[in-house]
Amino acid sequence: MKIDIVSVFPEYFEVLNLSLLGKAQAKGLVTVQAHNLRDWTHDVHHSVDDTPVGGGAGMVMKPEVWSECLDDLLGLAPAIIAADAAVDDAVADDAAVDPSRPVLIFPNPSAPLFTQQDATELSHADHLLFGCGRYEGYDARIPQYYRAQGVDVREYSIGDYVLNGGEVAVSVMLEAITRLMPGFMGNPASIVEESYTGGNALLEHRQYTKPAEWRGLRVPDVLLSGDHGKVDRFRRDEALSKTSGLRPDLIEGLDCTQLDKADRKT
Ligand code: SAM
Repeated sequence: MKIDIVSVFPEYFEVLNLSLLGKAQAKGLVTVQAHNLRDWTHDVHHSVDDTPVGGGAGMVMKPEVWSECLDDLLGLAPAIIAADAAVDDAVADDAAVDPSRPVLIFPNPSAPLFTQQDATELSHADHLLFGCGRYEGYDARIPQYYRAQGVDVREYSIGDYVLNGGEVAVSVMLEAITRLMPGFMGNPASIVEESYTGGNALLEHRQYTKPAEWRGLRVPDVLLSGDHGKVDRFRRDEALSKTSGLRPDLIEGLDCTQLDKADRKT
């Protein structure tokens, strides 16, 4: 997978050379390149923002700089959108990824929430290009224009709060996506049995390691019993009750035909 990131703080992404993502780059599974948006400016101040049209506080990222940068990275020629063209204003797209098409992703606090399902879908792409917003955000015509050019453009929020810029949000999405790529994790089973994962996605049961007793606290006896059926049942019951307490929305989304009799009791 090829990953391009555009930011006014490309140094922020040096940390991506660490840990599992660093190893995946060394193995050639993924390449990550961070670009400085200011490299596509032409003025002495390298400005990437301007005042909001219609008034208001702060600054907005200019479409001209972004388009020069994105045209270069996507290999597109500049175009003019016809005045009467229908412009798609969708903010996010959960359609299947076509691996042969690049996916352009903008983090945006007012877009739909980025989920494990989105991460799974995007892990099938060959080329992801992330654009980090700053200030009051980027000019709304940027995603519109690239959708009109046939690019798969997606906008996602990582949560109901506002960050200073898209860099943290991109790091979050990038990590969630790349760890799902085949060959990324040493043990592929560890990404199957996880919260939010699979057809009937629940929060994961609690995890314990040795020793069986630590500072007076014991691991539940059933986990030491060696009875795999009982262990599975215990974990499943815990996942169901934890999810119904903390995330009833996930329980409402369950496919009832996939529940067994014991699940229903929980
Ligand atoms: N004026 C915007 C608003 O109120 O929705 C906030 C802009 S924020 C200060 C600057 C940039 O940070 C955004 O363009 C986006 O790229 C990023 N950002 C901030 N919070 C985010 C979130 N929760 N999810 C994804 N991106 C976020």
